[in-house]
Amino acid sequence: MTRGIKLFTLFNIQIALDYSWFIVFALFGWSLSYGYFPHYAPGFDKTTYLALGFSSAFLIFVCVLIHELSHSLVSNSLGHKVKRITLFIFGGIAEMTREPDTASVELKIAVAGPIASALLAAIFYTLAKLAATPDPSATEALLTYLGLVNTMLCIFNLIPGFPLDGGRILRALWWGYTGNIDSATRAASRIGVGFALILIVLGFMQIFSGNIVGGLWAVLIGFFIQRAAEGGYRQLQYQQALSGVLVRELMSSTVVSIPGELKLERAIEQYFLVHHHVSFPVIVDGKPVGLITLGHIRSLGHGQWSNTTVREAMDPLTSVTVLTPETKVIDAVGMISRGTLGRAVVIKEGRVVGMLSRGDIMRLLELKTVLKE
Ligand SMILES: [Zn+2]
Repeated sequence: MTRGIKLFTLFNIQIALDYSWFIVFALFGWSLSYGYFPHYAPGFDKTTYLALGFSSAFLIFVCVLIHELSHSLVSNSLGHKVKRITLFIFGGIAEMTREPDTASVELKIAVAGPIASALLAAIFYTLAKLAATPDPSATEALLTYLGLVNTMLCIFNLIPGFPLDGGRILRALWWGYTGNIDSATRAASRIGVGFALILIVLGFMQIFSGNIVGGLWAVLIGFFIQRAAEGGYRQLQYQQALSGVLVRELMSSTVVSIPGELKLERAIEQYFLVHHHVSFPVIVDGKPVGLITLGHIRSLGHGQWSNTTVREAMDPLTSVTVLTPETKVIDAVGMISRGTLGRAVVIKEGRVVGMLSRGDIMRLLELKTVLKE
């Protein structure tokens, strides 16, 4: 679902970095080194400003990580396991294995992050006071800046638009009050989109009046919130549509397997052209060993079809997504999207009993969302 670079594991949670982070890191480092620090902490040389700018950019990352971790630890302690956190510079996404099932759980998870940021702000401001000297002090400038960053992180995340923390708090309160998570999420998402649009408009106004960097930030953050707000509501719809559905109810169970030793030429004639499937499980000695798709055949030239066996062309089972009939479809979605083939083999007691593709899941989603409207 999320692209990014895996960094390390903390408290059993995989910490990953979104690619966008590198761009934003460079922008932050640069604008702090040449803009913020020379303006608010005058009297240092260029090297000091660069060191201040880029170490701040890195420490912002640490502060965002602490913010997200505090959500995740509360979530884990309430039984909603978080497996992975993906960090952007002004936020992160903690991937919960399932959405909170009561309003009070949601509320507790949502407030943890802003509380952590507020505490960090207090700590950094206090340290800055302690580090203060009569002469300009780079340490003091850095600590004051981190105090400011955490204050901003706290306030930014409290914007009442879902899926920001403030939006989650709003949703939890609305949900607790009305008992209807759907209308609560829709309302919180709409407010989120509204805030985003206001930010984008204000950002463009700033750009046109000459404050290009500040305006660009506002526009960028606006787009980020808008995307997240719309995505957040869609995700809830998906989760509701898929909840409780098992792989065996959705998989296609009329499975035809191809013997692994067959030449591709024969496989095309006797299987692909006869059964009109785009993928087949591959069997050797009655056991599943892999999956062959039209893509595998296409990637080999016509000339190789007569001297290549199915087994040589297929993806071995170790690199294929394997599900059981009892796997929840909602878990299967993530597993299939992490794979490269867009489909999974369903295996029970060593036998292939079905196939499930991303298309099958999308059809169900479409059906359920259309019928619900
Ligand atoms: Zn948060």
